[in-house]
Amino acid sequence: MSPGPAPQTIIVVGGGLAGLSASYAALRAGGAVRLLERAERPGGNSIKASSGINGAPTRFQRDQDTAFYSDTVRSAGARLAAEADASTTHFRRPEREALVATLTGASGKAIDFLVDEIGVDLSVVAQLGGHSFPRTHRGAGKLPPGAAIVTALLEKLKQDPKFELSTASEVKRLLTQISDAGSRKVTGVEFTSAGQTATLQGAVIFTTGGFAGDTWGLLQKHRPDLAGLPSTNDPRPGTHGLLEAVGAQLIDMDSVQIHPTGFVQPSDPDARVKFLAAEMLRGGGGILLHRGRRFVNEMETREHVSHVIMKLPPSSTAATAAEKEGSESLTQWDIQLLLDPGACEAAASHIGFYLWKGLLAKKKVKELDEATRESIREYSQVVAGTKPDALGRKVFGSWRLQGTEEDEELEVCIGRVTPITHFTMGGAAISSKGHVLAKSDEGASLKPIEGLWAAGEITGGLHGDNRLGGSSLLECVVFGRAAGAEAASYALGR
Ligand SMILES: Cc1cc2nc3c(=O)[nH]c(=O)nc-3n(C[C@H](O)[C@H](O)[C@H](O)COP(=O)(O)OP(=O)(O)OC[C@H]3O[C@@H](n4cnc5c(N)ncnc54)[C@H](O)[C@@H]3O)c2cc1C
Repeated sequence: MSPGPAPQTIIVVGGGLAGLSASYAALRAGGAVRLLERAERPGGNSIKASSGINGAPTRFQRDQDTAFYSDTVRSAGARLAAEADASTTHFRRPEREALVATLTGASGKAIDFLVDEIGVDLSVVAQLGGHSFPRTHRGAGKLPPGAAIVTALLEKLKQDPKFELSTASEVKRLLTQISDAGSRKVTGVEFTSAGQTATLQGAVIFTTGGFAGDTWGLLQKHRPDLAGLPSTNDPRPGTHGLLEAVGAQLIDMDSVQIHPTGFVQPSDPDARVKFLAAEMLRGGGGILLHRGRRFVNEMETREHVSHVIMKLPPSSTAATAAEKEGSESLTQWDIQLLLDPGACEAAASHIGFYLWKGLLAKKKVKELDEATRESIREYSQVVAGTKPDALGRKVFGSWRLQGTEEDEELEVCIGRVTPITHFTMGGAAISSKGHVLAKSDEGASLKPIEGLWAAGEITGGLHGDNRLGGSSLLECVVFGRAAGAEAASYALGR
């Protein structure tokens, strides 16, 4: 029997979770995959994910969870609710709802896939902010969920002879042709590797992630007020311009998630990439101080706390935009996060790592400056119920200092924090199957760009105003797999 025609290549650009999921699905559908990754190693920001991946209903949940869709719609806020919006004329509520329905509807199967087919432990379920049920899955062991999922998927992929991974290979341009129908179609990519420029022909899946770490580039362009902030994300250039150059519709590019508390490492205060000071440090009783004084209800939303901090005078900032150009100078605030002995104990699972990293230090109360000691005394009285909190905090976690003389000998945990960028909700408009949609004329609906798919943080429209924690790993798996299967069908001429 003569062999059939060799399958056309599916080119996956970016080796985070979306790219790995797309690669896996494309291989299962019978395609041959070439994964191009800009960094020396795959994993992207996905490998850092620490809370987990959402799914509902799943066999690991105890409750009957039917609210994932409605929670996601609520979190997406005004951008989803708006019937029309000048910046997204053709990507309206029905298109956004279709993405949310796909994400939440396929979430249980995504967890099954990772557990049963890829062999990842996701047996522990937690409830994060904005969720009305526990539905964020991670493993019972020490390996964080992002690393566990990325590592296991990569292992599976490497076993397949039709999978080829090229690291240190940066895609610079999409190749296009005019199709028979007269529209533009994507036919491959141009990339650089080891100083050489090369081209590759095939169906293209773009999975290059967000731009929260591109502080002087895309962030400056779309959210100049946030330019110069440090980030949890790798400091790499955003790639949205490459998609825009072939006609892709970008939406919600100004929707950026910020987090109020990124740790400032005392030994490297100007590092662009920072560790998150987990929300539970405040929830467990931690307070925030500026020049020794509390200034915000620490239990307010991330957005609110971040905005209040950013109205305070920054501790370091580049004076002008011109100075920022090519400079590493960041805009940071000098905020202290302080946990009393009770709050430290409540956060023991995280504290050990932060102390070891030097992000938090233990100090006796008597070693702190007078303004801080006075704030501790006042706040302890609030917690004891002898007076109301002027800032409106009503939940105090495990704080147990009493505001007495005895407190002076006790140890608190203290570290410096500053607002950081964390996630970009905006990106390329896609269909529910991950097809990249092209800008269209007034009144016409958005049409797919032939030969081009996208998944993960590079895409927009799904999260609207705000992404729910745990939903970005999920979108990588759900839309990555959909895009992989679709691109393979196209490449194989089905
Ligand atoms: C500290 C941290 C914790 C997080 N925790 C969670 C969590 O618990 N749960 C959750 O759901 N989400 C979490 N997130 C968010 C989530 O990890 C990311 O949004 C998601 O993983 C993005 O995946 P991705 O595949 O789209 O992009 P990435 O994982 O960022 O991968 C993109 C890849 O594309 C490559 N690339 C970029 N440009 C090019 C180019 N031109 N050519 C070739 N390659 C290119 C990059 O080098 C990178 O490897 C967290 C994020 C961070 C930073």
